[in-house]
Amino acid sequence: MNRPENPSRRDAIKFLIGGAVAAACPFPLSAAADAAQAATAAPVAEKLGSEESALCHQVRDGFAFKFPPPAAEHEVVIVGGGPSGLISAYRLRDKGFLLLEKEPRLGGNAISEQWRDQWYSTGAAYQGNPEVEALCREIGMEIHRIKSVDASIIQGQVVPEFWNGGLWKSPYPDAVKKQFAALQKDMQAVNVERDAAKLDNMTFAELLQPYGPEVKAWFDNYGPNNWGGDTHNTSALIGAQAVEWEGGDEPNRYTWPGGLGRISLALEETLKKSSPAERLRRGATVLQILPTASGKVNVSFSENGTIQTVTGKTVVVACPKFIAKRLVAGLDDAHLNAMDALRYIPYVVVNVCFNRVIYNGSYDTDIPAPCPIVDFNVADWVINRDNKEQNRTNVLTCYVPRPERERPRILSDDYVLGLGHKVLDQLEEWFPGCKAHAEEVRIYRRGHAMVISAPGFTTRVAPEVRKPMGNIFFGHSDSEGYITEYTTALKAANRVAKEVTAALGKQAARSTTGPPGREGAARGHGEWRSGDQSVEPGGSVAVPAPAGP
Ligand SMILES: Cc1cc2nc3c(=O)[nH]c(=O)nc-3n(C[C@H](O)[C@H](O)[C@H](O)COP(=O)(O)OP(=O)(O)OC[C@H]3O[C@@H](n4cnc5c(N)ncnc54)[C@H](O)[C@@H]3O)c2cc1C
Repeated sequence: MNRPENPSRRDAIKFLIGGAVAAACPFPLSAAADAAQAATAAPVAEKLGSEESALCHQVRDGFAFKFPPPAAEHEVVIVGGGPSGLISAYRLRDKGFLLLEKEPRLGGNAISEQWRDQWYSTGAAYQGNPEVEALCREIGMEIHRIKSVDASIIQGQVVPEFWNGGLWKSPYPDAVKKQFAALQKDMQAVNVERDAAKLDNMTFAELLQPYGPEVKAWFDNYGPNNWGGDTHNTSALIGAQAVEWEGGDEPNRYTWPGGLGRISLALEETLKKSSPAERLRRGATVLQILPTASGKVNVSFSENGTIQTVTGKTVVVACPKFIAKRLVAGLDDAHLNAMDALRYIPYVVVNVCFNRVIYNGSYDTDIPAPCPIVDFNVADWVINRDNKEQNRTNVLTCYVPRPERERPRILSDDYVLGLGHKVLDQLEEWFPGCKAHAEEVRIYRRGHAMVISAPGFTTRVAPEVRKPMGNIFFGHSDSEGYITEYTTALKAANRVAKEVTAALGKQAARSTTGPPGREGAARGHGEWRSGDQSVEPGGSVAVPAPAGP
């Protein structure tokens, strides 16, 4: 507890806020929730970090950058170094690829960090998909099974193995327990494949209407956790499917201490072995993707304060579509309308680092709405689930998605710190005395973390989004429908790798038979603000100072 009579303890909990630059931004502050105590806390040590969004915001606001002519040509330029970009690079590693990632680290929403010797996740937690597992084995990763069924916290009480019999021991009244059981039975009878289009046109809330408010409240938090939307903003198709895998009742799921960011690290290591280091460029923000009359594509990016342009015979757009739609010049109406229809949820992940074990009862624990923590994971569960030693570090990764209307507030450090305090207070309520053992609170914020699996996303929107445009191929997990996860990132990467290989094959065949035609050029690209191209070939231009967030 941060009592005034114990000032050393009061200032002992460090809060660190960041996006991708979190580790560089220490922010010691009292953990006191009360404003008066917070005011007397240690001052801000350094400016807080965030995702690298200044340049993307300039693109959004239509800033007229000056783009130099191309200085180099690559077989494929990959925009974005999250899981889908990294897997695309891995699949295309025998081609001359160039991967451009705006953040200083690769991994996107699957990034692992360390506190002392403990790994924890800032985003993606676990998987169960056999194809993702096969990829991990292929790149030499050991598979750690979770061997745990998720718990839930119902009315303040931890309920082990909620969907595996725990429901019946929970404090819910009998009538509510029967509603949960009825939903499970009813959803098994739904033919999601046959009725996909019909289900995708309605909300999960409509499907849940017969089952009572407690069932809805449970999924109102489970949805944002897994696919970015509460029941009103979730397609019934996703909801009906999820009831089958709900609550993580599959013990064969796998993860690593630190979550799926470990796959990103392993992919990076593997790529470094097979490809020259300069092919993986971090801190390289793409500003424009411009199809040319030859069918090739010019990609302009900012790196170390300088704008450069390269030509790609093909381009994989592996950044999210809310950014892609502003980068790709001359997008046709079908792409633009589909990309405009995508919605993204803002997300805060709060890792609370304790100096002793606070909870080691299940890997994942789900909490129904209206709790701000939708679920929390034990960061080192797969290697320490059977460790009975209590005097060891214990990191709880708490997931705190926010409604879309709160996106601008994510940029406010006060707002984000307030969420950190709320998480600590909530944990204290469930595990009394735990605050006294908290040493650090590490907060990672993302403005557009997950695409929302809203009605229409899977059957109507995503199929339009992922249509190729000339030699530009749309990757990223927001192209595949269903839910944003490593599986959809892999699916997108496998698809674009095939598309790129076919396109390069066609280009090679054409180059032996005659000059390139115009078929790769996008409609309307001539009207696009292509910037001032008057710089000498191979030149570069300085990036203007950002105008602020
Ligand atoms: C809190 C949270 C929890 C999650 N939990 C799970 C889970 O348990 N299991 C699971 O399978 N999945 C989970 N996911 C989802 C998983 O993280 C994503 O599906 C995965 O990261 C998608 O990979 P991606 O490459 O498609 O996109 P992203 O991870 O979004 O990567 C896109 C990359 O593009 C880069 N970029 C953007 N703009 C530019 C630009 N202009 N120039 C250059 N680069 C750019 C970004 O910086 C980023 O690195 C979770 C996600 C979040 C946010």
